[in-house]
Amino acid sequence: MIDFDKMVDDHIAREHKPKQIGRYYPSEIGNCLRKLWYSYKYPQKIEPDLLKIFEAGNIIHGFVVEVLKSEKNKEVQLLQSEIPFKIEMEDYMISGRVDDLVIVSSNGKKMLIEVKSTKNLDAIGKPQHNHVMQLLFYMTALEIHEGLVLYVDKNNLKSKIFEVPFDQIKSAEIVDRFSFLHKHLKKDELPVDEAKKVSDMNWMCRYCEYKNKCDKNEK
Ligand code: SF4
Repeated sequence: MIDFDKMVDDHIAREHKPKQIGRYYPSEIGNCLRKLWYSYKYPQKIEPDLLKIFEAGNIIHGFVVEVLKSEKNKEVQLLQSEIPFKIEMEDYMISGRVDDLVIVSSNGKKMLIEVKSTKNLDAIGKPQHNHVMQLLFYMTALEIHEGLVLYVDKNNLKSKIFEVPFDQIKSAEIVDRFSFLHKHLKKDELPVDEAKKVSDMNWMCRYCEYKNKCDKNEK
């Protein structure tokens, strides 16, 4: 008998590489800062079930790229997907390939679309706080100040799209998040338990692998 689950696990398995202090990933900017801090101090292998969820997201992203490239859609042109990203700061670097972002042109305007898959589109009435943070960060870094978050339902490919207005002040605060994280990692200081404090981020604690440590304020 063929064990297809195992074949999928083997196919998507990734080499586990602990993160290095001083190298940060653009797609993580919207995460709870304390959780990010723990992920550097106590790296954990990503469980196969979670890898499968990520892979399902990649498949949806690939589909969105196909739709945007299609000759049948004339009003939007895909300019770039899988965008390489690198910002060198004074003593750290933010770099990595951004997989969930595309650059398009519509009515002669360049814009960013952040693509997110969801299992319940009906539950989405506005873009998630962390997705807005991520998009504002990309808008600032790539100097494209038009941005949309697109949610695609994994069950039926229905979608919702939201415009995110560029906000200079909020964007500057978001860019500072990596400096805050870097400082705390270098000084070995535990950052504030952000997701517990910010109501739009509370849900993150339910899926956090560091919850036990966090509840005890353990370093
Ligand atoms: S439990 Fe919540 S506040 Fe604590 S690290 Fe995890 S996500 Fe952050």
